[in-house]
Amino acid sequence: MHALVVAEPGSVGLAELPEPVPATDEVLIEPVLVGICGTDLDIVAGDIDPDFVRYPVTLGHEWVGRVVNGGGALTDEGGGRAPGTLSPLAAGTRVVVEGVVPCWRCAECVAGDTNRCATYDEIGFTRPGAAAERIAVPRRLVHPIADSVPDESAVLVEPASVVFRALTRCKPRPGQRVLVIGDGTIGLLATRLIRLWSPASVTVIGRRAGQAALVATAGADAFITDESTLTDGPAADGRFNLVIEAAGAAESVSAAMRLVGRGGTVALLGYSGQQAHVPMPVDDLINGDITLVASFSYTSDAWRHVVTLLNSDQLDLGFLITHRFPLADWRQAFDALQSPAGPRAKVVLERKPSSA
Ligand SMILES: [Zn+2]
Ligand SMILES: [Zn+2]
Repeated sequence: MHALVVAEPGSVGLAELPEPVPATDEVLIEPVLVGICGTDLDIVAGDIDPDFVRYPVTLGHEWVGRVVNGGGALTDEGGGRAPGTLSPLAAGTRVVVEGVVPCWRCAECVAGDTNRCATYDEIGFTRPGAAAERIAVPRRLVHPIADSVPDESAVLVEPASVVFRALTRCKPRPGQRVLVIGDGTIGLLATRLIRLWSPASVTVIGRRAGQAALVATAGADAFITDESTLTDGPAADGRFNLVIEAAGAAESVSAAMRLVGRGGTVALLGYSGQQAHVPMPVDDLINGDITLVASFSYTSDAWRHVVTLLNSDQLDLGFLITHRFPLADWRQAFDALQSPAGPRAKVVLERKPSSA
């Protein structure tokens, strides 16, 4: 089968791989849509902490697919959860799959902090990803998607779970003034998801005026491309209770610490680069009684929450898909991801399922 493989940093392309053979506790899935993101570009460039990737690697950690072979019934030993039985999945069932593969035995997993599992293992990083014709994955990580949920929404469960987990750590309260820094996919997801906590207002600061329509659709009350309008303009009636840094830039982290109000929270969601260091206004943070939240990946719990929100029609993320390409045109997809032109959120690779 064909797969989009990074053989080593700097070397990426379609490769012919052997068909995956599912183990007894695994399910064989045919990916339908696969999102690509800046992290994939980092894997290609070799700009990722070597502890979190193993080459050669098939890309694809954001995806939705259809079950080809759902395997047999399995005993779920539970880990941090109650043990139970996992039933086989019917062929054709649309599913999303948790990418982080917890061991379910270490202290972090037992406590539910599966994002910090002592043994880091993740689909598309340390094991083959979904930018391929087929993929075998552990049954207990597979979540069926309701018929009412479009593929375009389901393909975003992974980045949405990353954002959802970070937001839950911030313990948002209704009526808060929220600032999102960043107008890319993560900023747009944060804007959409923070609405679940009924904030008083959501303001987005971005760099690309062309993102305005996407930012509005995500649920922002205001979109600005010049920070000075926050301190001098009509919005200068106070600082923010929650500032979400989703731009992944050192200067945005500084801006976040400057713009948060007393008693407020700064959430760090964007990677600024391994070498990035930010001076910290220590006295201001102490005097402001500020909480700094940094959040890594997502827990199994956060993933389940996001799937439940989608399956119960409380969340729709399909508006984020702005570009789609066949898997074979991966080069154009990567170019679109880096192109400064036009509105852009999620770029997906598409693989038409074989006739069921
Ligand atoms: Zn990603
Ligand atoms: Zn573990």
